[in-house]
Amino acid sequence: MEQRNKNIEAPGCVNDCTSCQMCAAVCPVGCISFNEDAEGFYRPLVDAETCIDCGLCQSVCYKYDRDATPSGPPAGAMLYGAWAKDPEVVSATTSGGIADLLAKALVGNGYICCGASYDGRTGRAVHVIADTVGATGRFRGSKYIQSFTADAFREVADRLRKGGRVAVFGLPCQIYAWHRYAVKKRCRDRLLLVDLYCHGCPSMLVWDKCLTEMASSAGADRMAVRDVNFRSKRKGWGAFVLEARIDVDGVSRKISDKDFYNLFFSDDLLNKACYDCTARSNLEACDIRLGDFWGREYVGNGKGVSAVTICTSSGRDAYKLIADAIEAEEKDFASFLPYQSYGKVYKTDWAVRKHVFAELADPSVPLAVSVRTIYSARPLKKRVIWRLKQWLGFLPPAMIKSIKRLYYRFS
Ligand SMILES: Cc1cc2nc3c(=O)[nH]c(=O)nc-3n(C[C@H](O)[C@H](O)[C@H](O)COP(=O)(O)OP(=O)(O)OC[C@H]3O[C@@H](n4cnc5c(N)ncnc54)[C@H](O)[C@@H]3O)c2cc1C
Ligand code: SF4
Ligand code: SF4
Ligand code: SF4
Repeated sequence: MEQRNKNIEAPGCVNDCTSCQMCAAVCPVGCISFNEDAEGFYRPLVDAETCIDCGLCQSVCYKYDRDATPSGPPAGAMLYGAWAKDPEVVSATTSGGIADLLAKALVGNGYICCGASYDGRTGRAVHVIADTVGATGRFRGSKYIQSFTADAFREVADRLRKGGRVAVFGLPCQIYAWHRYAVKKRCRDRLLLVDLYCHGCPSMLVWDKCLTEMASSAGADRMAVRDVNFRSKRKGWGAFVLEARIDVDGVSRKISDKDFYNLFFSDDLLNKACYDCTARSNLEACDIRLGDFWGREYVGNGKGVSAVTICTSSGRDAYKLIADAIEAEEKDFASFLPYQSYGKVYKTDWAVRKHVFAELADPSVPLAVSVRTIYSARPLKKRVIWRLKQWLGFLPPAMIKSIKRLYYRFS
C-alpha cells in the first residue's frame, strides 16, 4: 500500500494527542474515526484506503506543532471577575454563569453556538450545536471528562464553509485547533472562540467506574443515572461535589461520589497531553477565556465568580452583549493566574499510573482502592495535605470559608 506522509499517523510528532478531534472534523473524505483507547481517551484512526493524503488534518493538529509554547497574557488582554445578575443562572452553572449568558446572547445575535452537553444514555460528554436560545441550556455546567466533538465540529466547519457565523465553546486544545483551521481557511472573523482555563481531562475509565459505583450504591444499573451535575453548588462554589439523580422503581433520588475528584486532582490519570500542555498556557487562539476566579480575591463568595479574560476585539464585542446582565470588576492577572494550572507542567509517577490503570480495568477493584494506591505512594507531606483536604470537606461551608480566608491571609 502507498505510504501516506501527511495524515495524523505520519511520523514527526512532537506532542501527544489532545483528543480534540479536529482532524476528523476537517478531513474532506471522512476517513478519520475515533475510539477510546485502553486508558480511556479518544484516539483517531485513519482509514488508509480512503485517505487522499491532503494534509489538512495534520495542518490543524497539535501533535506536529513545534512552535506551541507557553506565554503570558497578550498585550491589551483584560481580566474581570464577573457573575450573572440572575441568581438562577449562577446556581445552575459552574462559576459565575458567563458562558451561559454569552451563548444565549450570541445566538440572539445571529451566531450558531457549539458547546458541550452531557448524554445520560451513553454516559458521555458530547459537543452539540445550538441555534436557539433554549438549546444553549445543554451547555450549562462543566463536564470534567473529554467531550466527543467530531460530529458537531464537522457541522461547524460546514456552517463556516456556507458563510455562517459560529461561536465554539471548548477546552484550549480544541480552540487551538479551531483557530489554526480558521486562519488557514480565512474565516477567523466569522468564528468566535471561547475556551476555559483547564486543569486537564481524566480517563473515561475513572468516569465509567464512578457511574457504576454511584448506581450500585442505589441498587441500580448505571443506565438509571440521570442529570449528572459535575459541580453541584449544594455545599458552595468552591466545593467539588459531584451529584446525579437516579431513578429506581419509579422513585427518583440524589446520589453523589467523592472518589472521582480524588483521582482527577491526583493528576496521575490525565490524558498524556495534559501533563505539559501548552494550549492551556497561552491565550493566543481564543477570543475569550473563562474560568473559576480562584485565589484570595473572592474567597468569601460561596455562589460563584467567573474569571473572564478578553483577548481580542471580537471577544470584547461579544462581552459587551452581556454587559447589562452581569456584575463585573476589572482585576489584575497577578491576582488570578498563580492559582491556575496556566504555565504549569504536572508530574506523575509513571509506574503508579500504569498500576492504577490496571486496577481501573479490573471491575472488582473499587475506585477507593485506586485512590489509596495513588496517595499511599506520595511523600508524607503530600499525604497529610490530602488527608486535611478530605476532613475539610466534612465541615460546614461557612467554616470552610473561614479556614480559606485564614489560609490566604497567612500565605
Ligand atoms: C475539563 C475541564 C477542566 C477545567 N479546568 C479548570 C481549571 O483548572 N481552572 C478554572 O478556573 N476553570 C476550569 N474549567 C472551567 C470551569 O469549570 C468553568 O467551565 C468556567 O469557569 C465557566 O463557567 P461558567 O459558570 O461561566 O459557565 P458554565 O455554564 O459552567 O459553562 C460551561 C462551558 O464549558 C463548556 N464545557 C463544559 N464541559 C466541557 C468539556 N468537557 N469540554 C469542552 N467544553 C466543555 C460548555 O460548552 C459551556 O460553554 C474547566 C472545565 C473543564 C470542562
Ligand atoms: S491532537 Fe487533535 S487533531 Fe491531532 S490527532 Fe489528536 S485528535 Fe486529531
Ligand atoms: S484525507 Fe487528508 S485530512 Fe483525511 S486523513 Fe488523509 S490527509 Fe488527513
Ligand atoms: S490540559 Fe490541554 S490537552 Fe488537556 S484537556 Fe486541557 S487543553 Fe486539552
